[in-house]
Amino acid sequence: MNALLPVPLLIVGGGAAGLFAGCRAGECGLGALILERKHKPGRKLLMCGNGRCNLTKDIPPAQMLRDMGEPMTAFLAPALDLLPPSAVQNWFEQHNVPLKKMDDRRVFPRSEQASDVVHALMDALRDTGTALCLNAPVERVERVEGGFHVAAAHFSVMAQRVLIATGGVSYPKTGSVGDGQKFAKALGHSLKPYRPGLIGFMLSHPWVDAHGGSTFEQTTFRVFRNGQKIYEGQGQMDCETWGVGGAAAYNASRCVARLNLNDFEIEWTVGRDTVRVANPETRPLKEAIVTIGGVPLSEIDPATMESRKCPGLYFAGEVMDVDGPTGGYNLTAAFATAALAVASVARSQGRDGVAGEPARPAARDLRARPTVQKSGPHKPYGYKFQRK
Ligand SMILES: Cc1cc2nc3c(=O)[nH]c(=O)nc-3n(C[C@H](O)[C@H](O)[C@H](O)COP(=O)(O)OP(=O)(O)OC[C@H]3O[C@@H](n4cnc5c(N)ncnc54)[C@H](O)[C@@H]3O)c2cc1C
Repeated sequence: MNALLPVPLLIVGGGAAGLFAGCRAGECGLGALILERKHKPGRKLLMCGNGRCNLTKDIPPAQMLRDMGEPMTAFLAPALDLLPPSAVQNWFEQHNVPLKKMDDRRVFPRSEQASDVVHALMDALRDTGTALCLNAPVERVERVEGGFHVAAAHFSVMAQRVLIATGGVSYPKTGSVGDGQKFAKALGHSLKPYRPGLIGFMLSHPWVDAHGGSTFEQTTFRVFRNGQKIYEGQGQMDCETWGVGGAAAYNASRCVARLNLNDFEIEWTVGRDTVRVANPETRPLKEAIVTIGGVPLSEIDPATMESRKCPGLYFAGEVMDVDGPTGGYNLTAAFATAALAVASVARSQGRDGVAGEPARPAARDLRARPTVQKSGPHKPYGYKFQRK
């Protein structure tokens, strides 16, 4: 009898990054196993874009990188080189998710159903014979000779390589509770403190009271430090009972969090009204669209997504200190880092997978060529996310 072999690639987390990584691994014939904490995969994906799922933004990668700002610009360049927004769109269209583009270039499934996105990923896992194990919260990842020992609640697995794709720490009911960051720490990484990335500002102001419940489609939102404007952006703003939310406020909050501002002012202009408020607090981290902080980018090789602290360990998605504005940037980052990690693992195992060589992305066009027959149109995914 043959000796038992370790799993070539064990993926911890079945969210956007982990599911996409599993699909890419399957497409290049790399045996992968995904362990997912929850009884259903992709719970946060199902919430994306209010259930419509803003998959990406149809802009050149250079513009996407610029919009995200440092430290993401330099770090994500190889990943977006390998899987630019156009390739994200091609992958989903080739996997039976027709897309539509909005005037501002945001891309959604034509059905406006996030469940179609999860369903496409599940179909691709099935079609490539990639294993997904649900109800399997990983509790420990240990370095052992020849690879890793990964312990779930009721079983453990030996793996040659491990990809941590456990997400950030917001909306913990979706399963992302910060486990991956703890595994990384136990394997030698430091951690950057968490901050809410895209979130509303809590404030009390007569203008907001007077417009309670209103949504303004075109608002200009600004952030000032020492009286100097350091951020300006346009977008939707919602007046809530607790303050202001919506994409315009969220993107401004990301600037405040990234720059770690304590003393600042926000200002918005709607029609002829301009309102300025000093030092508003943000809503709590658990409500953030994205988590800033986590595994520092300086500790990960941007060309491979491999840990600089623990060889054989890879990262993808929000578990890293990666975040972008609203508009499909965060899912694109999750998919692209997943694709790059899998391509790197495949290369390290001497495989010439469809995920290709990061150094020669144009020659190895990622616009996926599945090696298996594709399934027909998706049936309803049969699962509706309920916020508890
Ligand atoms: C309300 C909301 C709306 C959003 N809308 C958009 C949008 O429209 N467009 C966009 O680009 N971005 C959007 N985002 C952001 C986007 O959803 C995330 O950036 C993206 O899901 C991150 O992917 P991920 O795979 O890194 O993490 P997640 O999608 O959070 O997946 C992590 C997975 O790991 C699993 N896991 C965690 N710990 C363990 C463990 N110990 N063992 C096993 N499994 C584990 C979790 O259960 C989860 O399934 C939105 C976020 C929110 C909260």
